[in-house]
Amino acid sequence: MLPNVRLWLAVFAIVLSISSVGIAQDIPTPRGASVELLTLADVAAGRARIVDLTHVLNEKNAYWPGPGYEPFQLKTIATIEKDGVLSKAFSMPEHLGTHIDAPNHFESGQPDLSSISPDQFFAPGVVIDITPQAEVNADTTLTIKDIQDWESNHGRIPDQAIILLHTGWGRFWNNYSRYKNQDAMGKLHFPAYSGEAARFLIHERKARGLGIDNLSIDCGISKNFEVHHIVNKAGRYGLENVAQLERLPARGFFLIVAPIRIEAGSGGPTRILAILPGKAKKEVER
Ligand SMILES: [Zn+2]
Repeated sequence: MLPNVRLWLAVFAIVLSISSVGIAQDIPTPRGASVELLTLADVAAGRARIVDLTHVLNEKNAYWPGPGYEPFQLKTIATIEKDGVLSKAFSMPEHLGTHIDAPNHFESGQPDLSSISPDQFFAPGVVIDITPQAEVNADTTLTIKDIQDWESNHGRIPDQAIILLHTGWGRFWNNYSRYKNQDAMGKLHFPAYSGEAARFLIHERKARGLGIDNLSIDCGISKNFEVHHIVNKAGRYGLENVAQLERLPARGFFLIVAPIRIEAGSGGPTRILAILPGKAKKEVER
């Protein structure tokens, strides 16, 4: 190897290590390029932190209070004591717990759960926090101004990212009545995206999907499910009841979205994992 090539490589290595410091401190970058330096090899080698954004499924889970929806059920069909093996069967609506809304959920002719292209399941993540607004008004929705404020603080939202809207509703997850927040008239009250914000994120920022930490990407009082239509019409998906958003930074992490694959399905339970710079933890968190 020629000495000047070596020198060039050494300079390149220094530049790379400076960029790594950038990852650890989550310095906002114009294109969100820093996360791309975290590889699956880093994850395997314990050089990345994983936050599980998936609620644990059980029969107490909140679910959409619509006709035909039932709680999650798990029954034992064989035990080690009696059968030499432990085996169970579960049943649940597609749209229960942490789950994906496939593009065919609100728009016919769009891909069903089994035909979403797998490359759509890997993307940089972004968290937009509207917790303060949601504290004051449960019916609040994300505005264009909120997005502009976010971008002036953190840089432009990268194209093809998955957007996660943090409403603070995750803290009510174990209290179904507080979570759905239904009034005497039967109306639900929880925050979400507005139509204009969804349109901007899907069309101007090419978002792969829109996620939220409550029951729906449309707010509780929505009658026409405008946000679902905007997202699904563009062939994109929604993610609902996403857990632990309070543990994520505004940007600087990568997401893996892993739904089950149901033929003709309109949605289904989905494991969502955030990968961040930092040290791996050994224990499983709830
Ligand atoms: Zn859903």
